[in-house]
Amino acid sequence: MNPLELAPLFRFVLVRTSHPGNIGSAARAMRTMGFSRMELVAPHQFPDREANALAAGADDVLEAAGVHAELVDGLAGCSFALGLSARRRGVNLPELTPREGVAQALAAAARGGQVALVFGNERTGLENEELARCHAMVRIPSVDDFSSLNLAQAVQVVAYELRLALLGDELPAPPPEHDEPPADASQMERFYTHLGQTLDDIEFHKGREPTTIMLRLRKLFQRAQPDQRELRVLHGILADAQRMAMLARSAPASPRSTEGSHVNQAEPD
Ligand code: SAH
Repeated sequence: MNPLELAPLFRFVLVRTSHPGNIGSAARAMRTMGFSRMELVAPHQFPDREANALAAGADDVLEAAGVHAELVDGLAGCSFALGLSARRRGVNLPELTPREGVAQALAAAARGGQVALVFGNERTGLENEELARCHAMVRIPSVDDFSSLNLAQAVQVVAYELRLALLGDELPAPPPEHDEPPADASQMERFYTHLGQTLDDIEFHKGREPTTIMLRLRKLFQRAQPDQRELRVLHGILADAQRMAMLARSAPASPRSTEGSHVNQAEPD
């Protein structure tokens, strides 16, 4: 397979972009490198004449761009996401150079998954909660005392690295045992919701604020990159834990009772 055929698997996701001109310049940057899928999350102003002016002919990218309220919707269908950030963040994700990040992104695409490259707002960058939806953070190694590139220029750097990688003839070999599709971002989101509910049900937090532990757990599962079958097993375990918690609440005298129906039983594998 010609690696360039993988280009449609990549999307550039711009989050809370303030200046429509940057959206246009980003579209141009993508288009010059052979990428045309753009997803916009809560843009301050779009569509806009300024965006079209700076797209310099890449209007097809703007016309096809998806507009979403939430990052999770911009990531729908993706099994791998790289978050671009000028600053080191407290989320403790692996920090990669664009070249390293692109190599991982390409490996994910070679397994058949869709890949997102996620860029933050011009002033504030990506929030920790947004980075926590990514599998790794990419920092363009700019100088410490002036580290922030213009948004569209950061898009250009990544698109260029990606193009170089796709022009090379070395495609990472997909792991042979990977017969089950990787879980995508919406499936992971459903899992985190279920996990959060279950931790409430089993009274795990004991009055502590759940945000930090949920970010840590996200990091753990993002690192593991579970496939769809593994996610079904995890849902099954959570459902059983919820069922046991319910039984314990309704019959405190016999908390170890095994009566009751098996809801949402995990696959036996
Ligand atoms: N102060 C912000 C900078 C925002 S610039 C921050 O700390 O991230 C807008 C976006 O461009 C950033 O959110 C990021 O996605 C991208 N960007 C700019 N400079 C970058 C760099 N050196 N490395 C990686 N991404 C960068």
